[in-house]
Amino acid sequence: MRIDIATLFTDMCDSVIHESIIGRGIKNGHIEIYSHDIREYTENKHRRVDDKPYGGGTGMVMQAQPVYDCISAIRAQHEGKPRIIYMSPQGETLTQEKVQELAQEPWLILLCGHYEGIDQRVLDELECEEISIGNYVLTGGELPALVVADAVARLQPGVLPNEDAYSIESHYNGLLEYPQFTRPEEWRGRKVPETLLTGDHKTVAEWQNREALRVTRRKRPDMHRAYINAAVRDFWGRFLEAKGLPEDAQYSGIRTLARTEEEVNMELKLILRGKKRSIAYRCEDDELPEIGGYYIITDWDGIPKCVLKIIRAYVVEYDGENIGQVRKISADDDFIDWFREYRDSLNGDDPVICEEFRLEYKGK
Ligand code: SAM
Repeated sequence: MRIDIATLFTDMCDSVIHESIIGRGIKNGHIEIYSHDIREYTENKHRRVDDKPYGGGTGMVMQAQPVYDCISAIRAQHEGKPRIIYMSPQGETLTQEKVQELAQEPWLILLCGHYEGIDQRVLDELECEEISIGNYVLTGGELPALVVADAVARLQPGVLPNEDAYSIESHYNGLLEYPQFTRPEEWRGRKVPETLLTGDHKTVAEWQNREALRVTRRKRPDMHRAYINAAVRDFWGRFLEAKGLPEDAQYSGIRTLARTEEEVNMELKLILRGKKRSIAYRCEDDELPEIGGYYIITDWDGIPKCVLKIIRAYVVEYDGENIGQVRKISADDDFIDWFREYRDSLNGDDPVICEEFRLEYKGK
């Protein structure tokens, strides 16, 4: 892949691109990055590239001609059609998804503005896309262009040691990365999580997946929600396909089963083994769930684990003492146990809803 940066400050760009990992990537031929001085293309004898804005206002505007000639000269150096991107606070905000898209391109030209920006006519003439690195304004497009070049370059084969080096990192798959630790094992009384010292790859991978979800939920609830929604959509689609059900099958929602992680894990295990076939819960009103509806059960982190179908639902009247009635209508021992455990915290009048269900789908 080739990246050309059109700028008024080539030294600033060169000093960054030739350092560290990207610098090594260039040296080893995994990526080509060049900077080009727009000023070299001015026809002005004082080498000016800017002028006052029409209509007045503060600041100066970069002129169309030197920008156009610089980009034309870059284009003439190489075969093919480059994607030309003007770094602009008005552009589409850069995301990892966008970076991954750009990384597939064979050739990018990144155009850096300065002062008040660039004469609109040359941006239109070149049919530039616009990319912003965030909702704030910098003095020039060099830092944004370097951000794009760095993010795109590190995805090129050979720049990083292997694909894992970026594919498990934050944002690549819609999550943030799990916390990282290095030696020593204990520092100022803080220990490295024990799981990471076990050398058991499967357990370590499970820990990393779990922590990635938790870190994302804590730091970026918006991302976590989007990730879970996508996972649920995907799971529901696989369930419909596996069961040959129509797209409008009765979806009753998502459930997480209990209030603590331990309880959720335990309940989930019982359900997946077919040992738990009903749940009961206190409710403020006594609205019953829809019979025949399917609902998705998630684990503690919100990941869908199975689909249940509600086959019966009823309100249990509890008189403060008597649970015989419950035994009559439910053969499920888990429910009886649950009821015994909770009865002390129930008022005589609290309605309790019991749902009986069938395990329909476990996923893969
Ligand atoms: N007058 C412009 C406006 O209000 O939209 C801002 C010009 S800015 C001071 C100068 C140059 O910095 C821009 O032409 C652009 O190349 C670059 N720039 C500033 N902030 C940027 C951002 N958030 N993302 C990408 N480029 C940015």
